[in-house]
Amino acid sequence: MMTDVVERVLCDMHVHSDHSHDGKSSLEELIAESIRRGISVLAITDHCDVEYYLPWDQRSVIRGSVSEVGALAPRAADRLTLLTGIEIGEGIWSPEHTEEILGDHRYDVVIGSVHAVRYGTLTDPYSKIDFATLSEEALHGYLCAYFEDLYEMVETSPCDVVAHLTCPLRYINGIYRRNVDVRRYEMQIERVLRHIIAKGRALEVNTSGVGGAYGAFMPDAWIVRRYFELGGRRITLGSDAHTAERLAASFDEALTLLSSCGFDTYYYYRDRRPVPCPIVLA
Ligand SMILES: [Zn+2]
Ligand SMILES: [Zn+2]
Repeated sequence: MMTDVVERVLCDMHVHSDHSHDGKSSLEELIAESIRRGISVLAITDHCDVEYYLPWDQRSVIRGSVSEVGALAPRAADRLTLLTGIEIGEGIWSPEHTEEILGDHRYDVVIGSVHAVRYGTLTDPYSKIDFATLSEEALHGYLCAYFEDLYEMVETSPCDVVAHLTCPLRYINGIYRRNVDVRRYEMQIERVLRHIIAKGRALEVNTSGVGGAYGAFMPDAWIVRRYFELGGRRITLGSDAHTAERLAASFDEALTLLSSCGFDTYYYYRDRRPVPCPIVLA
């Protein structure tokens, strides 16, 4: 008797190549490693942090990334769906530049991120801020401002996927050990989740913090569960790999988490439209 076997499909929707300033692996290496790992869908989402748009000539960076993906995708097509993406940081700081970069190319997926927060003088990317000596009050103010920026991004910035919600905690708790209880921000987080759903965007479960100093998904499991309870169904997985070794890292755990929350489907984006994939556990 034949049984229906649903094949496990791995879709990594958030990956950096060496076109990103902090990316280490070439596109060829990423493609070869994806095929080795049985990844079916891979989105290259190189950085365009809008605050560096002119000084770092982000337009040329993205042009390089998009054109290389376009050249390599057909060659890999029988084994891997390679998608054109972009990760826009701080899009709300300059809607003009965001609009310009989005008009330059046809993307499959646009990821929206907050890497730097508009809070007093602490407007550098949070990866560069020394949180060790910041007062409790300032730390709280900083995180409130982060969730406000996120809300505004969901409201006004044209992204498909909201990346790594709670990412500052990777530094604040993971590196600086400030032990912030993210539950304190439950109201703000729920407000952002409701808005993601209302605007038809997708929530990303970012796996880059698992197994490192931070040791958790971004966002945490309870936030993913809350998103489902609130009616959120559009969800993507992103390794945020900056090296080929990190591709689809901890995806088995992430898919188990999604399944335990009630999801039976996750998504990848093609032509900026969500495509469902069944969740099949390993
Ligand atoms: Zn990011
Ligand atoms: Zn990223």
